[in-house]
Amino acid sequence: MLLRRFSPLRHCFSSFLLSVMVIPVFSQAVTLTGDLQQGAMIIGQAQSAAKVTLNGKRLKVSDAGLFVFGLDRDAKPGDKLEVIGKDGAIWQQSLEVKPREYKIQRVEGISKKIMSKKKSDETWARIRREGQEISQARKKSLNLEGFNQSFKWPLIGPITGVFGSQRVYNGEPGRPHYGVDVAAAVGTPVGSPADGVITYADDMYYSGGTAVIDHGFGISSSFLHMSKILVKVGDTVKQGDVIGEVGAGGRASGPHLDWRMNWFKRRIDPQLLVPAMAKKSEQ
Ligand SMILES: [Zn+2]
Repeated sequence: MLLRRFSPLRHCFSSFLLSVMVIPVFSQAVTLTGDLQQGAMIIGQAQSAAKVTLNGKRLKVSDAGLFVFGLDRDAKPGDKLEVIGKDGAIWQQSLEVKPREYKIQRVEGISKKIMSKKKSDETWARIRREGQEISQARKKSLNLEGFNQSFKWPLIGPITGVFGSQRVYNGEPGRPHYGVDVAAAVGTPVGSPADGVITYADDMYYSGGTAVIDHGFGISSSFLHMSKILVKVGDTVKQGDVIGEVGAGGRASGPHLDWRMNWFKRRIDPQLLVPAMAKKSEQ
């Protein structure tokens, strides 16, 4: 981690004011929690009323000085985090993001109808509309602090897909996979991994029964391929509340839950936030 301390600039004359500006010596404590690697969620703690920017973009800061951001699948080192305390003290860090290696995963047996580029205008319009609705849901930045809890697995089962892997569907390269896939029987309950508010709940062409939970400050979870959605937009959920049931709808080759996490547009890896998957017998 690179930490820069700024020495006071004691004689900075403004040509207009001819006054001496003194920038206070670095004094504030800023702590970051989370491993700086691709796909990570990083939680920061600064003084209350601190101003925090990431690459010049202002981040939301709670009254207690809490803030959060995500590093996406292909994040490069060098994002600039700056915290300015209410006394004007400046803390800066260039984020040394560690790269990860991603797998290549072949997925066979996806319905030809879903994979085909030949779709009716109506279907394409539906796909576009659903894409826009999901990006609207992920743009939200609610005043909730569910992201600061210890996350829990939404269900227990074998992990059949991981974050970041390059997907090849029926032999054709597709986009990387952003979720963690957990195989389970149709109807297995899906629990909320942390507190939040439902910002999307509908049946989608590519992902079947889909729900989005906003955990606050731009951090959200998406749940795909569900056979049943048991929540509606605006519902408040607590960690562990059942939000739906596992299914195989949309682009899925068998029943499983695909759990994704986002910080606004950036995709983050849910598996970095939960303990190792327990065996069913340990539940
Ligand atoms: Zn998946």
